[in-house]
Amino acid sequence: MASLAVWKFASCDGCQLSLLDCEDELLTVADQVTIAHFLEASGDVLPGPYDLSLVEGSVTTSADIARIHRIRDISRVLVTIGACATAGGIQALRNNADVAEYASVVYARPEYLDTLATSTPIAAHVDVDYELHGCPIDKGQLLDTIAAVLVGRKPALPAHSVCFD
Ligand code: SF4
Repeated sequence: MASLAVWKFASCDGCQLSLLDCEDELLTVADQVTIAHFLEASGDVLPGPYDLSLVEGSVTTSADIARIHRIRDISRVLVTIGACATAGGIQALRNNADVAEYASVVYARPEYLDTLATSTPIAAHVDVDYELHGCPIDKGQLLDTIAAVLVGRKPALPAHSVCFD
């Protein structure tokens, strides 16, 4: 039985909702996969290591950097899901701006914020096995990737995202 973990970084949760929307399809492989860590769906957490980790969201804090390294260490296959995780997301607009100025405009007490000056993709910090592009991700690609990991083949993914075509 393979174990699946889902992790969230800076994101809107939309890609995790795509996974939740696969409920019926996941039932067909319920005897092959255990959802061991998926806080969006359940507070029950099984300890790692995990066969497959799906990672949503970008890295925006120093705590994120430490956390993604821990997740990489306990994941046999790590797949990033969505534009936030694969490219930094809309929050990466700050990468070419002054984040302190942004924070001072938006927040009454910006001194309580603990944030990096940039939003970066997961692959900028750890090795990533596969990337699912899109905002949100394509459900068919997600299901194929999960099925591929279960049987030990490569997922059938486009060579690169539509944005770069
Ligand atoms: Fe939300 Fe889009 Fe980021 Fe997915 S890629 S978490 S849908 S903003």
